[in-house]
Amino acid sequence: MMTDIIKEYKLIEREIDRYRRDPDEIIDPVIMATDNNVRTVFADFSGYPKLENKLGYYRIDVDDQGNLQHTVCRRKDIEPRWLSFTLAHELAHYFYHKNVEKEWPNPPLIVDAFSKETSNNEIEQICDMFARELLMPSNRFINGVSYYRGIFTDLSDKTAAEYLANDFYVPYSHSYTRGVELGKFKNG
Ligand SMILES: [Zn+2]
Repeated sequence: MMTDIIKEYKLIEREIDRYRRDPDEIIDPVIMATDNNVRTVFADFSGYPKLENKLGYYRIDVDDQGNLQHTVCRRKDIEPRWLSFTLAHELAHYFYHKNVEKEWPNPPLIVDAFSKETSNNEIEQICDMFARELLMPSNRFINGVSYYRGIFTDLSDKTAAEYLANDFYVPYSHSYTRGVELGKFKNG
């Protein structure tokens, strides 16, 4: 099971490699979206009970010419630390269909709606892994952990994750998970 996740993840991680000129480079997901003709918009989610706890969604529509139109919509009052992470996660869904499934589902369709809670679903995990790699490049994150541990003796994983969440400007939960998946923080 786990090997399937890694195999599928690697197929979409290649999209990041295509953009990075340096392994430490953080690519703006807006650039990746624009390059792939994925529209990025913001909307007021208030008054939509199904979107109450959602940060954003990815949908596929058909335009007047019969062409597929990909859109990532984020809530207009999204917390700043979730701004890039949400787009990166939804872009991963786009790349998943493009590179793993190799076909588009039938539009119009909301492919994914994203919230803060981490899901055990494999595709959700793959999309979160993609977002973490895009926004917290592995070597750079590992160097960051070493840097803070060099300054502060007995630095807890929790505090290191807080410092790195600030540096990369991402949600704390994903900074901590990044440390776990890179073997730097204890699981749990
Ligand atoms: Zn998702």
